[in-house]
Amino acid sequence: MEDIEKYWSIHRPKLGDQVPLSIFRAFRHFSAGYVEDLMGEKGSITVFYNAGRTLGAEVGKRLGGNSLDEYLNKVVNFVEEQRIGILVPVSLGQDLMVFQLEECITCAGMPNIGRRICHFEAGLVAGIVEHILGRRVVAKETKCNAMGEGVCEVSVRV
Ligand SMILES: [Zn+2]
Repeated sequence: MEDIEKYWSIHRPKLGDQVPLSIFRAFRHFSAGYVEDLMGEKGSITVFYNAGRTLGAEVGKRLGGNSLDEYLNKVVNFVEEQRIGILVPVSLGQDLMVFQLEECITCAGMPNIGRRICHFEAGLVAGIVEHILGRRVVAKETKCNAMGEGVCEVSVRV
């Protein structure tokens, strides 16, 4: 498991720790494109999903919480504070949880390119859910702005 602290140690006295979203998007989408060229679509999905899942586990560890409700509240606040998006738990069943991410950092406002692309975000949700449940889940992006579906949605099979 990666030690995330080394990446979160930022020393930029003049420029600070914020960047324009356009730069994040260029980094995110160009990287995904090159990984896909090298590893194919399945390989690329796995890379980004697992990276998101690792981050999700780290975030879960730091947020804590005594109940699922309290934990999810903290997650929703974290996701908005970090401006990843506005996380809306749509349904929280025993076997299936569905979350929508409004204003998704990666896809909000993109034109319809005919495919869902937020695999990092799906992994992030998986890691976050796995942390509180203490077992493995499978998350899939079931709606995406890049597919013209108007929102980013992640469904988690428990
Ligand atoms: Zn998205």
